[in-house]
Amino acid sequence: MDFRFSTLAQKLKSSMIRELLKYANVPGAVSFGGGTPDPETFPRHQLAELAREIIENEYRYTLQYATTEGDPELIKQVLVLLKRVYGLDGFSPENVLITVGSQQALELVGKVLLDPGDCVIVGDPEYLGALSAFRMRDARFLVVKFEKDGPDLNQVEAHLKRMQKENQLHRVKFIYIVSNFQNPSGITTSVEKRKALVELAEKYDVLIVEDDPYGVLRYRGEHIPPIMSFGGIDRVILLNTFSKILCPGLRIGIVVADKQIIRKLVLAKQGTDLCSPSLTMRLAARYLERYDILEQIKPAIELYRKKKETMIEALKEEFSDVMDVDWTDPDGGLFIWTTLPDVDTMELFKFAEQRKVFYIPGEAFKPYEEPSSSMRMSFCLPTFEQIREGVHRLKQAYMDYVEAKGLKCR
Ligand SMILES: *Cc1c(COP(=O)(O)O)cnc(C)c1O
Repeated sequence: MDFRFSTLAQKLKSSMIRELLKYANVPGAVSFGGGTPDPETFPRHQLAELAREIIENEYRYTLQYATTEGDPELIKQVLVLLKRVYGLDGFSPENVLITVGSQQALELVGKVLLDPGDCVIVGDPEYLGALSAFRMRDARFLVVKFEKDGPDLNQVEAHLKRMQKENQLHRVKFIYIVSNFQNPSGITTSVEKRKALVELAEKYDVLIVEDDPYGVLRYRGEHIPPIMSFGGIDRVILLNTFSKILCPGLRIGIVVADKQIIRKLVLAKQGTDLCSPSLTMRLAARYLERYDILEQIKPAIELYRKKKETMIEALKEEFSDVMDVDWTDPDGGLFIWTTLPDVDTMELFKFAEQRKVFYIPGEAFKPYEEPSSSMRMSFCLPTFEQIREGVHRLKQAYMDYVEAKGLKCR
């Protein structure tokens, strides 16, 4: 059948991750693939109780359409959190938009800022959801290598300089960056690089979109001020979400930006869904009012910390005899990024599948399709025992791969 799909629809294809993880649930499998939080950390009893209350007592709000900007009660709580988490002060409700997850925020930001062919500076590797949202706008990616302390700023400036020379600087709309414990690499951008990035953005007059779903999930070291605190609200659009610190099912994302930008995002959102769900916005608002989310999340942070330590120890144990192997040891978040030189992790995947261990090949996080020797390993869902067993199997899969490829065991 010829359904005369749009050019855009013709380009859409099923995500590689979905295809790859089809068998990750078979009995006995260990999956480091999932990027989702542990459901046991969700405060289900508190939410269930509050849900009953707000449906019975606040039905005129919770069962009705909401304004596009979002629940004023929730925005009030968000402003309190911005102060507590980031030390960001002085914003008004007009600086905030509640979205259906920050994925919608990424999509709306794309809609209001990107014309086809406009450029976005992104990382290698980069968060897949952001890449998909910007691809929908037919964006061009100016790719910048991620180093241990954040993006390679020489590459950022080189891109900007080249665009300026070609009189195309106005087509560079923004720099997208996950500032803390990046998904997928676990890398945190250092204070120095945050400041320098803002200086570059000012010098070449481009916006920064700072995406920070993981900042609160820090299990060691000091909190680092957000890029927004250096660049201010004229330069930076800050995205956040309750998905990783409360639960993704509420689908609540947050945009903090200049009022004019919020205005445009609101208009774009009206064409998308009229408003975010009143019920989950009010549920989150009352939860934040009654409980201290930063206290409530502490056991989860402790659990993730221990799981990460277990994975790092297992990697050391199993892979220390492999030359040049490298992994990140993040201070927070949900991911470790492991690199095996000379290995195509997409090819290794078939061997890993045989051994019933799953991960996401680095190729999934490349702005443009190309092989990768890295992989994203999430430690938050498997048990401690599964983490050890999974890393052991990964080593076996690696040995199988080395043998099949006739590579020298390094
Ligand atoms: C999980 C995640 C999001 C989006 O999550 P939502 O559930 O849509 O709020 C956004 N950015 C990054 C980097 C993420 O890891």
